[in-house]
Order: sequence, then C-alpha cells, then structure tokens
Amino acid sequence: MNYQTVTEALNALRLLEEKQSALSHAMNMIVYDAATAAPKNTALGRGKTLGILSEYMYELIAAPENMEWIAYLHEHEDELTAEEKRRIEMTEKSCQQISRIPQNEYTEYQMLLNDAQTVWEKAKNENDFPAFAPYLEKIVAFNRKFAGYYNPAMAPYDALLNEFEEGMTMDVLDPFFEKLRSAIVPLLEKIRLAEPIDDSFLHRSFPVEKQKQCAEYLMAVLQIDRGYCGLAESEHPFTDNFNNKDVRITTHFYENNLTSALYSVIHEGGHAIYELACDDRYNQTAIAGGVSMGIHESQSRFFENIIGRSEPFIHAVYPEIRACFPEQLSDVSEEAFYRAVNRAEPSLIRTEADELTYCLHVMIRYELEKKLIAGTLAVGDLPSEWNRLYREYLGVEVPDDTHGCLQDTHWSGGSFGYFPSYALGSAYGAQMLAFMKKDIPDFEEKLRVADLADIKGWLGEHIHRHASLYQPSVLFENACGSFDPSYYVDYLTGKFKKLYHI
Ligand code: ZN
Repeated sequence: MNYQTVTEALNALRLLEEKQSALSHAMNMIVYDAATAAPKNTALGRGKTLGILSEYMYELIAAPENMEWIAYLHEHEDELTAEEKRRIEMTEKSCQQISRIPQNEYTEYQMLLNDAQTVWEKAKNENDFPAFAPYLEKIVAFNRKFAGYYNPAMAPYDALLNEFEEGMTMDVLDPFFEKLRSAIVPLLEKIRLAEPIDDSFLHRSFPVEKQKQCAEYLMAVLQIDRGYCGLAESEHPFTDNFNNKDVRITTHFYENNLTSALYSVIHEGGHAIYELACDDRYNQTAIAGGVSMGIHESQSRFFENIIGRSEPFIHAVYPEIRACFPEQLSDVSEEAFYRAVNRAEPSLIRTEADELTYCLHVMIRYELEKKLIAGTLAVGDLPSEWNRLYREYLGVEVPDDTHGCLQDTHWSGGSFGYFPSYALGSAYGAQMLAFMKKDIPDFEEKLRVADLADIKGWLGEHIHRHASLYQPSVLFENACGSFDPSYYVDYLTGKFKKLYHI
C-alpha cells in the first residue's frame, strides 16, 4: 500500500503498536503465570503456545510494509511531534532488531544459550568451571560479533551496554566505578575494624502469615493501589508490567529471614510505583513503561535503600512491624533494627549483598566482562581474576567457583553489559534524593510519619510520567542535571560512617 498522508502512516504505526502490545501482554501473562501460579508439570503446553505467539510477533514486526510507512514518516518529519518521532524511533528499532543478526547465527546462538543454561546450572552445582568454560567462550565470541551488528562504529562493549542503557558508554562508567572504588574500598576496611552490628534477631522464626500482613502494610505505606497492583509469591522476586493500570510484583517469604521479603516488597514496589505513574497517553505505544534498566533500578533501589533503610522511615514503620511480631522483636529497639537492616559486611554473593558492598560486586563484574569482550581476558583465566578482585576490593577469599564466577545467571544467558545498570541505578537514585530535598524542605519530617506523597509526587513529575519518551540520560539530566557520581559516594560514606561511628 502507498501511504498518501501522514495520518494514514501514523494509523499504521498505531495499529502495529497496539497489536505488539497485545501480543506481549499475552506472552508476559503466560510467563508470569508460570513463575507464580502454574503447577510444576505444565511447561510443555506453555512452551508450544509461547512458540506460536512468538512467531506471530515475528511476522508482525518483520512485515515489509512496516518499512514503507516508516520511510514515509521519515520523509515528513517536520509534520510530526517529538512524541510521534520517538514512537517511530522505538518502533523502527524493534523492527530492525530481528533483521540485524543473520537468521542462521541467531538460531545457532539461541541453541547455544539453551544448552549453556543447563551446563551452567550443573557446573554451578558441581563447582566445575571447566565444564562451562567452552560454552562461555562461544557466548563471548557471539556477543563480540553481535556488537558489530548492533553498532559497528562503537567499541564492542559500548555497543552491548547500549542494548540495556541507551547512550551509556565506558567513558561514563570507568570514572564512575573508579570513584566508587577509591571511596568504598578504604571505607570498608575501616568498617571491618569497627564494632560489628548484631543482626542475629532478624533470623529468628517469623511466621510467613504474619510476614504477609507486614508486606500488605508496606504496600499501603508505599501508597500502591492494590486495585492496580498484584502481589504474588515466586522463587525470585520480580515485577511484570502489562500497562500502567496492571502491574504485578512478587516476593519470596523465608521463615528465618524477616527482611528478605519485606525489602523485596519495597524494591519491587519501587518498580511498580514507576510503572503505575506512567502517563495514560503512552499505554499501548512503543514508549509505554519505564525507559531503561538503569532508571528502573534507580526507582526500586531508591525506595528499598534510600527510603526503606533510612532512619526516619524505620522510625515510622517499625512500631507496626514490631506489632506483627511482638514475641520475636520484643527486645529489639528501633535503633537496633535500623542498624541491623543496614549492616555492611563483605560477602561472596552479589544478590545477598548489603547496600554498601553491592556496588563493589557489580564493579568486579563490569571490569571482567569488559575485558572478556575486549579479548584481553581469556575465559580460562576468569576464575583466578574473579578471586583476585574479590580479595582486593572486598577482602574475601572465594572458596570455590560455585560461590565465585559461577554464581550469576547473566553470562550463561548471554547478557553482557547488563550488570552496570544495577550500580548506576543506585547512583541515579542518590542524585535524585539530593535534588528532591531541595524541592521538599520538610523531607525528613514527612518521612518520619511515612508520608510519601511529596516524594512520589516529585518522582512522578520528573521521572515516572514521561515513560520512555526521552532517552534515559536526557530524562535524568532534565530531572537533576548531568550525572555526577559524587552524590552517591557522599550518600554512602555519610550514611555508613555515621552508622559505624567512624
Ligand atoms: Zn529491581
């Protein structure tokens, strides 16, 4: 069909966006169900359905006529709004996504990842890195090649970073991590010599039913409308967003760990708050939902750590938490609870790390994957380099690869360039805090009574409502100027020096 008018071409865009969003809604719902409610032997039929829906998705976005109206719209860019241009840009990206890797290489890679997943799980369980190494070598080689397809003008690792955080480069990350390292590593050494914080009471027996009550209470404190946001249980906590009126978060309750579920509810709650506050107008368009992994993590970590583990917030919520567990917490003061949930201790496992040491775990992965992709680190040398960096930055000895370089699923899943967003998110959040405080003079007082309305209002205005309208760096700069890691470093050093009296 020939497009005669901009309106016709925009209608074609709208139709594609709606179909694409409906298909991903259906697919995500099936995946969400699999992780939360589906009985354990139901994978077979689900796999078949997902396969067929993926084919529909492929046909939809690979259709040659898409390129016709996209080309027509490019010719008439002066008649388009900034919002329309961004929708076209994002749609074009997803249309090109599938054609940029040759079909045979794509299929071969998917098969490799499929095998690698099984091999990695076994290797992790059996502490057998050599069994996984040949797969990792191939995955690295594929990613170096794909980086060239994504953006031949960029350094391969930059091209991969860009897949997760549009516009992010090593030029931004190198000085960021360098600044973190030079501040946090010496601070951690001082903490190690300081009086340790007792958090043993967090591992008493906390009945799951009561924890559920507590989780509901925290959802209410976060002012998350349960009419639009579900809370379910899964092996690993996650957030799924179907549109800005239907978000699902999950958690996992452990009887002997009070804070794991509660803080994961606040973390996923932060993701949900972002999605729920995206402007209605972007629903079912290519710019619906949060813009990037880094900005998303900035919201979840902001609520989990900056708010959730702050002194005034603990002051506000601890009475209710203690009321849920009168026996278990009768001898635990508000201050003891605050100190316990902030205990910093160098450890081996990233996902269990505290707020302070977390960024060092991420930094180690950044340094290693950067070298793997650049070809300056051989896969065979990965375990010894991993262990060396854990010794140097965290001061811990890695006993085996199970607790070392085999612990994360990212590399076996082909995700290179993903890790930095975790640390970036925390740093973005700290800078947002500084700017928000300028606009909310009674920030502390509000927090002391768990009144989050102004805080959510600030984030809603500057971040949430824009969904994916702007590139992450533009969105961030509009909200709080150019990215400056000093805010994060100052936040962490200020908080932990006070906490450990050093
Ligand atoms: Zn998250």
